[in-house]
Amino acid sequence: MTRTLIENGVVLTMNPAGDIHEDGCVLVEDSRLAYVGPRGGLPRELDARREDAAGRVVMPGLVNCHTHLCMIFGRTLATNTDLLSWLDLQMPVMRALDAEAMLAAQTLGCVENLKNGNTTLVENLFAPRSDTVSPEDCAFAAMERTGIRGTVARAFEALRFDPAFVETPAQQAERVRALHARWHGSAGGRLRLSFGPLLPWTLDESMLRASRALAGELGLCLHMHVAESAEFNRIIERHYGRPVRNVELLHETGCLGPDVQAVGVSDLSPREVALLAETGTSVILDPQTRLFWGTGFPPLAPFLDAGITCGLATNGPAANCGQDLFESMKYACATAKTAAGDPRVLDARRALRMATVEGARALGLDGQVGSLETGKQADLITIDLRQPHLVPAFDLEAALVFSARGSDVRDAMVDGQWLMRDRCLTRIDEPALLARAETLAERSLERAHVRRGHHRTLKGTP
Ligand SMILES: [Zn+2]
Repeated sequence: MTRTLIENGVVLTMNPAGDIHEDGCVLVEDSRLAYVGPRGGLPRELDARREDAAGRVVMPGLVNCHTHLCMIFGRTLATNTDLLSWLDLQMPVMRALDAEAMLAAQTLGCVENLKNGNTTLVENLFAPRSDTVSPEDCAFAAMERTGIRGTVARAFEALRFDPAFVETPAQQAERVRALHARWHGSAGGRLRLSFGPLLPWTLDESMLRASRALAGELGLCLHMHVAESAEFNRIIERHYGRPVRNVELLHETGCLGPDVQAVGVSDLSPREVALLAETGTSVILDPQTRLFWGTGFPPLAPFLDAGITCGLATNGPAANCGQDLFESMKYACATAKTAAGDPRVLDARRALRMATVEGARALGLDGQVGSLETGKQADLITIDLRQPHLVPAFDLEAALVFSARGSDVRDAMVDGQWLMRDRCLTRIDEPALLARAETLAERSLERAHVRRGHHRTLKGTP
């Protein structure tokens, strides 16, 4: 048995009582947490490797409930367009990815998440049909290699989408069954599969019902963009030929429930909020990305009042140009306060819960991760408090939400394995990855004939 004692740090447990231990200890045995609490609760003699966390916070790894690492090579492209035009501009780059580029994109994205303290992520993957590239295998391989805890949420497009991406429902079901057999629950349960329509109009009612049946049969979650903007609801009305709103449509087709994650949710009626609450559907909020597109943002207070589980996300690196969940926490508070006209509506403690244990609940993982409690998987991060922007920190939770950044994360552990020590990755040659990813991104843009503005490479050539 491998035993590691992380001591002398401030331990933020995110347990139900909200315990914070000023001189706390975390004992890791193999992949699990064997003790979390004050030093006095440990036996005097303990055979363990000791890690000094003085000046640091030790807390659960963050849970990024929704991203698109498959789009990472589109970062900084089309930053001044609306959501659907932005998507149109990104598609040629996605069509240009070969297997090596997709693997590098996914690996780069996993590394970026780890370096921001996100030890769990959901990759909402969409890619063109191909006989030579298996994008899901690339994504899972990147998660396996980097050590991150990850779900591939495979997106469906059967209708009203770029023909290069469209598959029949039968092809989708066959693919999901194969991926389920190959990857779901692998790497000691660290890797998982889910699926759902990329956009509400890329399936019809019968396909939505079939998706629900397939998810039920295989025990998989449904993960999908929902009511991202008022325009979304107008497009749904047009395509479905009747005055139906996004959440109503999902309710009709049985696609709401505790195993469903609704991402975006910025244009909901009170009835739709009630339907989400009644069915136990989780919402995933990416406020900084909503602001980036100017599409409005979720009001949040009605979700909190209705008792809906709220996870946080960055959305894709091409959508907001980063993967920093500390930004998501800060913007969640700012947008919730602005929408409600009430600064009390969302405090730092709840925002931290959304980024950790509540996000884990949204994904059905709260029995395993999201808080530092005995018996859970040892997924944790440390944050360096000895920095100008974190001194003084009279209120630790407020400091983490309003002052801290992803770059303050020093160490990251998943399943008891250190994946980052003092900001150095333990499994990946980061300089080599960055150089190769840049070369492959350049190649993809050239293949896609994408025009771009001023551009510099890492090598400094204009
Ligand atoms: Zn998204």
